[in-house]
Amino acid sequence: MLARHIKFGVATLALCATGLVHAGTAMQAHGPEPQRISTHFEVSTRGTTSQRLEREVLQVLETWHHRYMVMFESEPMGPIPVILYPRRTFHGSTGAPHWADGVYDSDGAIHAAIGGVARVGAGLERLLAHELAHAFINQLSGSRAPRWLQEGLAQALADSRPVKPPVHPRVAATRPDVLDYEGTLRFTRHLLSIHATATIRDTLADMGTGRSIDAAFQARLGGTPVELLAAWSAREERLAHQQMMMEPTP
Ligand SMILES: [Zn+2]
Repeated sequence: MLARHIKFGVATLALCATGLVHAGTAMQAHGPEPQRISTHFEVSTRGTTSQRLEREVLQVLETWHHRYMVMFESEPMGPIPVILYPRRTFHGSTGAPHWADGVYDSDGAIHAAIGGVARVGAGLERLLAHELAHAFINQLSGSRAPRWLQEGLAQALADSRPVKPPVHPRVAATRPDVLDYEGTLRFTRHLLSIHATATIRDTLADMGTGRSIDAAFQARLGGTPVELLAAWSAREERLAHQQMMMEPTP
């Protein structure tokens, strides 16, 4: 989302007990800044640093990296810079909209607002898994995956919580690129319910080889995104109608 360059200090490397690489102190503009580094990630904090939190962030990211590597059968070039921010400086530093707590930027870095947490809880894990999903989707599709699929798939992979049913069950959009954030999740979950994850992966890989989005969807999923959205919309409407007919009349 944001095209910027992040600069890192030179780190001294040493192996720690977990098998991950522990970087020593790197001097930056704001003083000593401990980092946590593995083959896949470079985790650092802007502001007050909790070394335990950085280590936990790295471990959580490594777990998700393994999951995604199995799923996507490819991986983004590492190490991926992961920058953690106190919530008060996140939006000003990254330019992210007020509702976003994470950004995967076009330079391939993950920026995450950690608030005041001392440990990685479910919310921060979802955020990290979501931003990491963007890195894999971006890499496999050669940065050509449409934004609705980027957001829908990142949400679907990182967050298994049920989504609230829409107030108006009818799908208002006729093109997937105008779906709202929750709409991208619902549509992507629909696609994942009728196609294997491997098929979605192959669709992304086709885009990465230069195939158009429509051609990749047509070949792998049997319809263009607009056609598949229309089919989903008709299905949602049918289901809403059936539900209405089953509701007892007062
Ligand atoms: Zn996202």
